[in-house]
Amino acid sequence: MTDGSADWFAKAQQFLPGGVSSPVRAFGAVGGTPPVIRSASGAEITDEDGRTYLDFVGSWGPLILGHAHPEIVEAVSEAAKRGMSFGAPCRAEIELAETVVHSYPGIEQVRFVSSGTEAVMSAVRLARGATGRDLIVKFSGCYHGHMDALLVAAGSGLATFGRPSSEGVPENFTNLTRVLELDDDEALVDLFRTEGARIAAVIIEPVPANNGLLLQRPDFLALLRAQCSEHGALLIFDEVISGFRLGAGGAAEYYGVTPDIATFGKVIGGGMPVGAFASTADVMRHLAPLGGVYQAGTLSGNPVAMAAGLATLKILEETDGWQQLEARGQYLEILLNPVLEAAPIEATLSRVGSIFWITWHAATPPRSAGAIDVAAGETYAGIFHALLARGVALAPSAYEVGFISLAHSREDIDQLAATLGHVLNDIRPETSGEAHDS
Ligand SMILES: *Cc1c(COP(=O)(O)O)cnc(C)c1O
Repeated sequence: MTDGSADWFAKAQQFLPGGVSSPVRAFGAVGGTPPVIRSASGAEITDEDGRTYLDFVGSWGPLILGHAHPEIVEAVSEAAKRGMSFGAPCRAEIELAETVVHSYPGIEQVRFVSSGTEAVMSAVRLARGATGRDLIVKFSGCYHGHMDALLVAAGSGLATFGRPSSEGVPENFTNLTRVLELDDDEALVDLFRTEGARIAAVIIEPVPANNGLLLQRPDFLALLRAQCSEHGALLIFDEVISGFRLGAGGAAEYYGVTPDIATFGKVIGGGMPVGAFASTADVMRHLAPLGGVYQAGTLSGNPVAMAAGLATLKILEETDGWQQLEARGQYLEILLNPVLEAAPIEATLSRVGSIFWITWHAATPPRSAGAIDVAAGETYAGIFHALLARGVALAPSAYEVGFISLAHSREDIDQLAATLGHVLNDIRPETSGEAHDS
């Protein structure tokens, strides 16, 4: 077979809806044809044409050590030789659970699942079961996977399609969901005043990173914590992106705000399909087999996936990985800020640790979904393709963040800044949607 990337994607469209297994991969927001990937290593991915790209997508978050890290590949290979799945307790899941409990504030027990969606879905059921209440509160622009009740005002994939929610979700399924704006203290307090006694849980991405990077005021998170405690509602931190990326204790440790339940995914699986939710023993005792909240999974706690997660967290711990990532994040900020200041369009960088995002047509980083300029999508499409043509891969949507991994060297970050500089220089004012004003 000598078919190239485009041939493979044509075939993909015949056999996979939209040619993909997850929608944003289809380049719907930026147009064009996504490269079909053959292999990846370190900070680079290579497509079926043999073209190599410097990758800042990192499989959308999991690959904090970079692609195909030799020690992870080794851990997975060794685990696979001992058995692909047992359907019984195994050492790796016990060790990973112990690691999570020792790393993350305020939790005592962990249940493993196979995706972030599954973790959130189970956490919500647990919260309802533990409190005996029905209402779930979420924030506009926060994405929590694709469970029906949370598929309202849910961020990137959906923002990208300009839809507030999904077809196929009956209104009755979202009747028990309340949606608040991020960064709005008053609306939060009002909702608790009127419905506080019915609220089972409030779920939030403490570092909202699925609709741009909408970094919150620490006092907003503290207010949320206080309101939940006062009204007997559980606070769920969806740390599927931030967990083990900001540090061992995730956003909870970063902000000094401890949730009642935390959900994990992405980094915790080291590139394998792993999710988890965790809480105190008092809350977790409601979960089957101890309690009446049912939750199960054939491949949950899978030994091969657990081995990848364990090896990833071990390397991060042993190499001071999070400190290194913060240093690289600072370096990226130092390089990108002047590039953006010199750009013919207004643009602002948001960053926390190794997560970064550029918002277009904005002078300050937005803190809520509504604060993002709708023109950003169109502006970004051109920039995205110009970068890709020069071998730099950012995510194919203006609403998706970028990730630095430990495989990204300073030279890689230099290359991102230099390439972005060239691309922005080439934008002429008449096509930029806004005049250069300096
Ligand atoms: C990615 C993500 C999810 C969903 O995880 P999947 O593994 O894609 O199902 C849930 N919550 C957050 C915050 C995420 O970033």
